[in-house]
Amino acid sequence: MNTIQHLIDGVSSPSTSGVTKPVFNPATGEQSAELAMASLAEVDAAVASSQAAFQEWRHVSLARRMKLMHAYRNLVEANQVEIARRLTAEHGKVASDAMGEVARGIENIEYACGIAEMLKGTYNESASSGVDVYSVRQPLGVVAGITPFNFPAMVPLWMIPNALATGNTFILKPSERDPSAPLFIAELAQEAGFPPGVLNVLQGDKLAVDRLLEHPDVKAVSFVGSSPIAQYVYETGSKYGKRVQALGGAKNHMVVLPDADIDLAADSAVSAAYGSAGERCMAISVVVAVGDVADPLVEAIKVRMNKLVIGDGTDPASEMGPLITEEARDRVNDYVRQGAEAGATVVVDGRNANFDNNGFFTGVTLIDNVTTDMSVYQDEIFGPVLSVVRVNTYQEGVKLIEENRWGNGAAIFTRDGGAARRFQEEADAGMVGINVPIPVPVGYHSFGGWKDSLFGDTTMYGPEGVKFYTKSKVITSRWPDPSTSSVNLGFPTND
Ligand code: NAD
Repeated sequence: MNTIQHLIDGVSSPSTSGVTKPVFNPATGEQSAELAMASLAEVDAAVASSQAAFQEWRHVSLARRMKLMHAYRNLVEANQVEIARRLTAEHGKVASDAMGEVARGIENIEYACGIAEMLKGTYNESASSGVDVYSVRQPLGVVAGITPFNFPAMVPLWMIPNALATGNTFILKPSERDPSAPLFIAELAQEAGFPPGVLNVLQGDKLAVDRLLEHPDVKAVSFVGSSPIAQYVYETGSKYGKRVQALGGAKNHMVVLPDADIDLAADSAVSAAYGSAGERCMAISVVVAVGDVADPLVEAIKVRMNKLVIGDGTDPASEMGPLITEEARDRVNDYVRQGAEAGATVVVDGRNANFDNNGFFTGVTLIDNVTTDMSVYQDEIFGPVLSVVRVNTYQEGVKLIEENRWGNGAAIFTRDGGAARRFQEEADAGMVGINVPIPVPVGYHSFGGWKDSLFGDTTMYGPEGVKFYTKSKVITSRWPDPSTSSVNLGFPTND
């Protein structure tokens, strides 16, 4: 059985903790590897390596850092298929989703290739006589990233490029469920020429996270995962004086107005609800059907669902793969049961789908007539379950979004520009889509939600990412007038 190890100081670093966790292929249900879990001493060793590397790395020129980032970008692109293969093998997502994930990660490396533009600083000449005031942004030191299972390559790439390009060293603690892809993208950074210790990977769980949160040499923590852990990481990291950005869970609403293009709305709902088996923080989990759009929309979604091909992600015909674990599958199926028992209408029941292997598969579910008191509405299910809430007016839809505890994404489908404009202003969420179901910002904007979807005040990647990984320094400088200089500069003198 292959044991997946840490990457410290540029080399594979076998764990001595003696503790391992199994890694599964969710499409077969079989264990594919074991993961070595970090001990406290191994966390300390990774931090010491990163701290030592920082002393040199922070002085490496911008020109050199950008050159390395370009090399890294090219290597990740050249290895896109292999990264995607690892994603499918351990996460289960189908090949097209896996390739798309890597492409969205590469966007962030491309952004960091132009980091000099973001680090230009500011300058005021003659704030007072002979006095100039200017600001620069400097790296923080060792920063850590703790990432979720659902985007094992993309989410680390939300963090690593900007963190390194701005002169920090980085410790990645990936999800223990699918560690091979993030380990590989870190190995590619070594191959691109980043010095040993600039990017370390630590395999582990709560023990490792807690040590990173309290370690005095870790200056900042970027976290992406579920809301309870995001809140815990935010509060604990802050208590230890660190800068923390912590992105949490979601329950994203898609409001469909009566004038919407039904085909577009139904296509969008199906791809956004069931893509990647609904294991996306930007998945649509609630369709808010306004007025008489509900019946035709539910019918159009149902027709499309019945055509979805669910199967092993390595099969090119598959459009949706399995869930990440057996427990996740059982939890999702139990939510469908709860919805039915609470009185909602199960239009398509994913529990009825048959699969002829031991993979962690379930079918796609559509639940109509959902009300806000039901657990299918209140909780983040994180699986291929789409709820439909029927309302009479646009305003009721906006109110639902406002009253929901999460505020990651929200979308509206309409042909009315005025309604769309109103929604963009009123939707209580950090990322809004207009006739776009999953409005994940491009790499030169920043990603993050509101309310329980984000703890802290800095969103991820893009300009906000650069801000998070740097601290501002303002310099006030005075130089006497050159006419008083002891060096003859050719200015007229008073005598
Ligand atoms: P998770 O919170 O269980 O785990 C995330 C990370 O935290 C992992 O690296 C894990 O090892 C670590 N962790 C887990 N329990 C911990 C504990 N008790 N103490 C310290 N560390 C702990 O999340 P997940 O199941 O891997 O990912 C799915 C969740 O992530 C969903 O809620 C999803 O919405 C969310 N997510 C959010 C975003 C976003 O941008 N807002 C993006 C992707 C995923």
